[in-house]
Amino acid sequence: MTPPSGIEQRRILKTAIPGPRSAELHARKNAAVSAGVSTGLPVYVERAGGGILVDIDGNQLIDFGSGIAVTTVGNAAPRVVERVQEQVADFTHTCFMITPYAEYVEVAEALNELTPGEHEKRSALFNSGAEAVENAVKIARSYTGRSAIVAFDHAYHGRTNLTMALTAKNMPYKHRFGPFANEIYRVPMAYPYRWPTGPENCADEAFEAFVSQLHAQVGEENTAAVIIEPIQGEGGFIVPPAGYLARVAEWCHDNGILLIADEIQTGFCRTGDWFACDREGVVPDLITTAKGIAGGLPLAAVTGRAQVMDAVHGGGLGGTYGGNPVACAGALGAIETMKAEDLPARARAIEALFVPRLRELAAKYPQIGDVRGRGAMLAVELVSDPGAKTPDAGLTAAVNRACHAAGLVTLTAGTYGNVLRFLPPLSITDELLAEGLDILEEAFAASV
Ligand SMILES: *Cc1c(COP(=O)(O)O)cnc(C)c1O
Repeated sequence: MTPPSGIEQRRILKTAIPGPRSAELHARKNAAVSAGVSTGLPVYVERAGGGILVDIDGNQLIDFGSGIAVTTVGNAAPRVVERVQEQVADFTHTCFMITPYAEYVEVAEALNELTPGEHEKRSALFNSGAEAVENAVKIARSYTGRSAIVAFDHAYHGRTNLTMALTAKNMPYKHRFGPFANEIYRVPMAYPYRWPTGPENCADEAFEAFVSQLHAQVGEENTAAVIIEPIQGEGGFIVPPAGYLARVAEWCHDNGILLIADEIQTGFCRTGDWFACDREGVVPDLITTAKGIAGGLPLAAVTGRAQVMDAVHGGGLGGTYGGNPVACAGALGAIETMKAEDLPARARAIEALFVPRLRELAAKYPQIGDVRGRGAMLAVELVSDPGAKTPDAGLTAAVNRACHAAGLVTLTAGTYGNVLRFLPPLSITDELLAEGLDILEEAFAASV
């Protein structure tokens, strides 16, 4: 797993974070880029690979973010670079809907083979996660002839109009952007840490609430699909209790409702399996993927049962750039890397290294109310009062800032802004992981 650019896998701080060159560029950014597009940590990156981001001031930061779970195989991963370079020199675009090419077909074949379930599948490729979710909804409606879509509390499915409607959190995703698409309904999520009657009751009561609300407020026969993230991402890495997803899947199946698993953040080895559904043997009817799929190139997909995917009329799905050949080449390089380096196993090894350290930290700081996640998708939820579980977004922001200042890229998440999430690239070394965790510990000591 040597990064191609020969970046030394070591944290180096030469200036304050951000440094003077980044600050200068950031002033230009503010004058040129819409204020609506903000940045979590304005250090401007020049090169990246392994577990390191190199900024334009020569600082080397440890990456616990992977550009939000995208560079799972590492930044500029060798097989991705090689395939993309070849492809970009051969041709850059024809539009698959006009004159097709093999790379798109090869990505679809790989998705059909790798996603959960042994049934016959088809795939369609798009540019972004939100676009994949939009198309999954179109396909589900077309196949079932029903219109309602049921989503969960704390869900995140994107920022386009339809996916904003599916996303639960107002600020910053929906605020002042309505009206939203209709025929979207929301049900409670099985959130063990915050389940009102305690985590031990969460699975049964959450399932009961899901079924009764869908029945009473929407109607099974009106519902095209239920969409769920097997582990919620932006909502705060909420892991439903074991068995919950399987019950939802079975109930949907019994009622002729399609189950869409949004694996855009959890997919492609991130959680220690190829897909998060694999852990519990859940086979969704449709699965949306993006983020980790192509080593950083923009690509997304809907994969699903052949009879569902083929129910759509010819020309009903597509887009000018969907399944761009360069992005497909990136995906083929990324998938080859995941197989060759057994990245599901690497994600499990990262969990084994990470979780004991997070638990130690939680034992020391009662402000850490919950440690959760799976594989290399891990988080801590911070509260000001462990009894009342009052969300502490202020402390979360302070720890996040302290990590940034020390050269560790961390991200926050959660409906209440009180979750610190960790999404290291699977190409990171154990030494950098341990050092990042030391920095996190110091950040807690300095912020609590
Ligand atoms: C990021 C994300 C999306 C949206 O993907 P974009 O590529 O940003 O449009 C949708 N669903 C989930 C679960 C995500 O994490």
